[in-house]
Formats: sequence, structure tokens, C-alpha cells
Amino acid sequence: MPATTTAASCAGPPQPTLAQRFPRFSADAGSSRLRQLERLRERARRFAQQHARGRALEIDRRAREDPRFFDWELVRAGASEGLLSFLIPKQAGGGGGLATEAAIVMEELCAACPGIALIFGAHALGISPLLLGGPSQWDGVLAQLVASEAQERPMLMACAITEPEAGTDVEDPDLLARGRITTHARPVPGGYRLTGTKRFISNGSVARWITILMPTDPRNPAQTWTCFLLDTRSEGFSIARVESKMGQRACPAAELSLQEVFVPAERVVGRPGDGAAATMIVLACSRPPVAAIATGIASGAYERVRDWIASGGQAADLRNRQHVQLQLASMEEEIHLARQAYIDAATEVDQVALGGALRHPLVRALGHVPPSVRRSSLMRGWITSPRAADATVAVMRRTTSDRAVTRSLALSSLAKAHCADVAMRVTTAALDLVGMRDVPVRAELQKLWRDAKLTQIYEGTNQLNRIEVHRGLCAQETISCLPPLRAAAHPNRESPATAAATGAGRQDPLIGPAAGADRQLVRARGGER
Ligand SMILES: Cc1cc2nc3c(=O)[nH]c(=O)nc-3n(C[C@H](O)[C@H](O)[C@H](O)COP(=O)(O)OP(=O)(O)OC[C@H]3O[C@@H](n4cnc5c(N)ncnc54)[C@H](O)[C@@H]3O)c2cc1C
Repeated sequence: MPATTTAASCAGPPQPTLAQRFPRFSADAGSSRLRQLERLRERARRFAQQHARGRALEIDRRAREDPRFFDWELVRAGASEGLLSFLIPKQAGGGGGLATEAAIVMEELCAACPGIALIFGAHALGISPLLLGGPSQWDGVLAQLVASEAQERPMLMACAITEPEAGTDVEDPDLLARGRITTHARPVPGGYRLTGTKRFISNGSVARWITILMPTDPRNPAQTWTCFLLDTRSEGFSIARVESKMGQRACPAAELSLQEVFVPAERVVGRPGDGAAATMIVLACSRPPVAAIATGIASGAYERVRDWIASGGQAADLRNRQHVQLQLASMEEEIHLARQAYIDAATEVDQVALGGALRHPLVRALGHVPPSVRRSSLMRGWITSPRAADATVAVMRRTTSDRAVTRSLALSSLAKAHCADVAMRVTTAALDLVGMRDVPVRAELQKLWRDAKLTQIYEGTNQLNRIEVHRGLCAQETISCLPPLRAAAHPNRESPATAAATGAGRQDPLIGPAAGADRQLVRARGGER
């Protein structure tokens, strides 16, 4: 086994194929889907080897000295491998990837440097709410992101949910209803004025566009939680500070200050009031890639310590000790099972949360319309109309159900919490094996241990994720993850009771009957809703 403890020798042993790594893919061996995934993984790996691993420690040090430090060269290098557009729908010129693609990319990048990987992960999180917006988003910022990547002037995105007084609370609809929400999007003619503070926002200080969630009525946050697409060049937007982080420092986490920032009505993503439901779907989609981030950290630590032990030198006394072999076997076992957990969750969420909607005949038909026609004012006017937003919701409700999304959210949460704990255990065990030996691999492992800790906190703490596991799998409850049909979604327009009286939830003439009945964010035990 070759030694791979230094940046110069980071190529490492040949990697197993995806079909070898994930037994569930072996049935697809030779398929075009698997070949595409392999190509994407190869691009991520090439970037990781050429740009990330060798610079990881240096960038970590520079960002510790100055939390505002940011290396745009890395972003340009990642963009040249398509790492900023692989999640963007093909109709907008992107790669059309979903959670599976994001997870595979994240594991590759994180085995090299989780901080650098998070730049691309936070960008993907920023894009995610736009994917739920369906065709209305294809020709706006998503197309701009693809064009800017092709022109080697890449733009980054971020997603802002967390507030100073509300972290866990804004990741769960029940807690959101009781949370101390201090942001407010005030409806004004032509749009909204956004005010308040968002905290710990990855890429927040470097993003050109931010998907940001806040209520239009702070007294009723869960029912009025709304997603906006914020242009960071808007008047009233500023960066209050950039955090000094313990790990994943290459990606800055910023506090955003908004003072009456105007966002036009057409930059509401989805419909006003649908934000809490949309957040559940976004988290179901984004937690498998976060689980893969953690798994990548674990596999990066394992491979470093395994190769260091195999290289002899100061590790010569360890190689033949049975307790060391058992420790390595245990790491291999944990990583193998973590991989299966995240790929299971990613596959499920791709199938149930977004996959059905993307395959819907109406969405496919729009995808065949040439972009030049789609962008004509007449057609764009229809695609971005409230009527079309209602149709997008109706498509989702037609192609999936609250129960299916609740279950996939629970599987995603299970993978996220489990893999984050695996990352902590494996990085700790790897450091234990190196002990006090003053070898280069030790600094890399120390960094990975710091990087691992954050995966237990972001994308919902592991405690919150386990609450989702209990809800969706142990108690078999169903969360209202899908936005309701028609007027019931617009609390400012009609109350749910009025909506029921006016027939919200009835069959949509374009889409057909809904998969579930409309209701508020209530849960029921078992059964399909
Ligand atoms: C590196 C990093 C990057 C991040 N990037 C982003 C980003 O890009 N965008 C974004 O919006 N946010 C981001 N966050 C914020 C992250 O999502 C929050 O930190 C996380 O949701 C936890 O919120 P909190 O820090 O306010 O902790 P709290 O919610 O205050 O939680 C503190 C503790 O209490 C526990 N707890 C709280 N409520 C409950 C409950 N009801 N039941 C059981 N236990 C509970 C938690 O599990 C935790 O252990 C990032 C955070 C970090 C560390």
C-alpha cells in the first residue's frame, strides 16, 4: 500500500467503482446513469486532488488568522469541473443532478478538505429551494449561474434560515410556530421589505444570491414563512460579521444584516406562506449530502491513518498489532455502513421528493420548449404567474404525498445523524492511533476532527434529526411537508377555513386530482394523507 500522508502523494490507491462501493448500484452496472455518476465523481475527485487536499491546511490557517479570507481561485477551479452547476436542472443548462449526485460529489471533496467542499455544498443548498420552484426558476438566476460558470466568472449562492434566537426552531414547523423569530418581510407595493438578522450563513459573505426565509407576519411565522431570492447587491443588505470557526474554515459563515431590503414580488420562490413546507423538502434533499460530507471526513481520516500505518516509519510498531488491525477494521465497517445509509436516503428522496415532479408530463413538455420561446414575455409571464405556482404545487401533490416525504425526511435525518457521529468516532480513533507522534498526518487528522464536529450541528443538530427519525419512522407520524393546494396556501389571502369553503384542494384542471387533502401543518399517525 502506498504512503499518502503528504500533499505531494495525495493520489492514493485506486478507488473502487461506484458499483463496488454501493452494492445497490451493481444492478445498474454499465447503465448510462451509472456512467454519468462515475464521470461526475471523477470530476469531483480531480478537483479534490489537484486543488483541495494539498491546500487544505494552508487555507485553514489563513482563515483562522482572518475569518474573511476566501479563495476565489478554488471556486474558479471547481467551476471548471462543473461543480457549481451539476444540481441545476438540464432545462436551465445545468447537469440535472439531485441528492444522489450531490452526495457522491460531497464525499469525494470532503475526503480531501471539508471546508473547501462546504463552499460547493452551501452553494448547492442555496440552489435547492429554487428547484422546488419548478419551471418558473429555470430562466432566471439558475440560467445566470450556468452562464457565469461557463464564462469563468462564477457566482455563488447561499441559503439563510438560521436567526440569532432561532436555529433548531426554524428547521421544524412545530417549533417554528413557537420560535423567537425576529426577521420580517413586510408586504409593500410591488414586493416586500426584508428586515432582520440571519446568522451562521455559509457563503453568506461571498454569495451573489441568497435564498432567504422569513415570515410575512412575525406573529404567525409557520403559516407565513416565505422564501425569497435576495440579490446581495440590494440596498440595505450588509455583512455584520464573519464567524471565527473551529473547522471547515475555508467556507466563511457570516451574519447578514437586512434593513428594509426591497425584494420584488417576482423573487418570491414558490408561493408566499409555503416556506415551512418547502423547508422540510429542502432538508429531506440536503441531509443525504450532509451525511456524505460526514462520511467523506471519516473516509479521509481513515485512509490517511491506514496509509500512514502501512508506510512504516514511525508507525512501524503499529502495523502488526492486532488491536490496531481491529481498530482499522472497525473504521472500515463504520464507513461502509455510513455510505449505505446516505445513498439509501439520497435514492429515496430523489424518487419521492422531486423525481416524480420532474417526470410529470407538464414539466417535461415545458422542458421541450426552446428557452428563447420560454423567455418570451408572454410565456414567461405565464410561467411565473401565481397560477403557475399553484400548478407547480399541484404537480408535487400529484406525484408524491406527505407520508412519502415524511418518510424520506426521516431516512435523510437518520443518515445525517448517524454519519455525523461516525465522522466524530472515526476521526477520534484515527487521532488516537497517531497519538503524540509528531508526523505530518497528525495536523491533517486534527483538522478533520474539528471539521467533523460541525456536521453534528448544521443541517439541524443531531438531536433534531433524531426527533425526525422518531416522528417519521418510530411513531409513523405524517408531517404536512407539501404545500397545500391553491388558496389555502395564502394565509394573507384566505384562511384555511375559508379556503375549504371556497373549494381549495379540488381537482386542478391542468394537473388532475391531488394526491392528498389540503390542511395545516398538523400530523397524524400512520396512513397515507
Ligand atoms: C459551520 C456551520 C455552518 C452553518 N451554515 C448555515 C447555513 O448555511 N444556513 C443556515 O441557515 N444556517 C447555518 N448554520 C446554522 C445551523 O443550522 C444551526 O447552528 C443549527 O440549526 C443549530 O441551531 P443553533 O446553533 O441555534 O442551536 P440551538 O437551536 O440553540 O440548539 C442548542 C442545543 O439545544 C438542542 N435543542 C434545541 N432545541 C431542541 C429541541 N426542541 N429538542 C431537543 N433538543 C433541542 C440542540 O440539539 C443543541 O444541542 C450553520 C451552522 C454551523 C455551525
